Amino acid sequence: MTKPVILNAAELPEWTHAELSALFAVLDLPKDPAAASAFLKEHGSEVRGIALRKARIDAAFLDALPALEIISSYSAGLDNVDIEATRSRGIRIENTSHILAEDVANAAVGLALALTRDFVNADAYVRSGQWPVRGHYRLGRSISRMKVGVVGLGSIGSAIAKRLQAFGSKIAYFGPSRKAVDIPYYDDVSRLARDSDMIILTCPLSPATHHLIDAAVIEALGPNGFLVNIARGPVVDESALIEALAADKLAGAALDVFEHEPAVPEALLRDHRLVLTPHIGSGTEETRRAMAENVVDTLAKHFGIEGPRDRAASMKELETID
Ligand code: NAP
Repeated sequence: MTKPVILNAAELPEWTHAELSALFAVLDLPKDPAAASAFLKEHGSEVRGIALRKARIDAAFLDALPALEIISSYSAGLDNVDIEATRSRGIRIENTSHILAEDVANAAVGLALALTRDFVNADAYVRSGQWPVRGHYRLGRSISRMKVGVVGLGSIGSAIAKRLQAFGSKIAYFGPSRKAVDIPYYDDVSRLARDSDMIILTCPLSPATHHLIDAAVIEALGPNGFLVNIARGPVVDESALIEALAADKLAGAALDVFEHEPAVPEALLRDHRLVLTPHIGSGTEETRRAMAENVVDTLAKHFGIEGPRDRAASMKELETID
């Protein structure tokens, strides 16, 4: 039987690439845009599936792939995919939202605790020898007594809500529609921010959420409020955040994602009211492995091919992939 042709646009670890190659005829998309476009002109008509990571899939890209049936994405976020153009062509899109939600929620809660208990600066206080000289460290804030607003109650947002409810926090959420859950719903993000001590962003990046968190929402959160962004950088208007911090209109923020990452503005780098991490929400060995395996398994299932059996492969490359 001829193997289905898969376009590899996923920068997968080598062992996952080997798994794909064992099951499919794999074409590696060149990184250079001009070379990629020439490559698609030549080979696009054969492609039936895409293993995707960050490559931009727009209508023109899809037009070059008339036989495409499925996109299997390594990420949960699909902001690099024109979803409407994909779905209107009857092409399936699968992602790893169901696999990474727990670890991203763990990261969000860790960031929220680091932020409210000031762990990063407290660590520096001990290491720099200030404790014996200056005495007790300043007090933090109690997340257990906070109202926390979740912006986007999907897989990750729900996992965060579950964890923070166990801590005693009062949870509410904002999103495009009310869910069948026993958590107060807001149809206006500014009102949610006004009623919250902290908001945690877990919505997808889309035209509707680009700069959703602007100066007005930050103002509504207020000078004692905290912001946690584990979604995508451009959901926050970074300039508005910098201005609000400069005017003491926010208590602090924990940011795993940035508007122009990996570039982070100097004003954020030097502000000690912030906890900053380099887009590591899903970054555990176990979850990254499961995400990579899911890319292969999803394609195998779609094409009715038995998936790989032996997965005792090396994990070394996983830390470089998000
Ligand atoms: P999900 O299960 O699809 O949940 C997304 C939620 O956001 C849904 O409840 C959705 O509501 C809601 N939403 C959609 N449009 C919205 C809007 N305009 N305003 C507010 N909420 C909106 O996705 P997920 O797996 O939880 O992932 C969410 C996002 O997290 C991803 O898209 C990705 O960008 C980000 N992420 C980041 C990391 C990291 O490493 N930092 C890792 C994984 C994912 P409906 O159900 O009503 O549509």
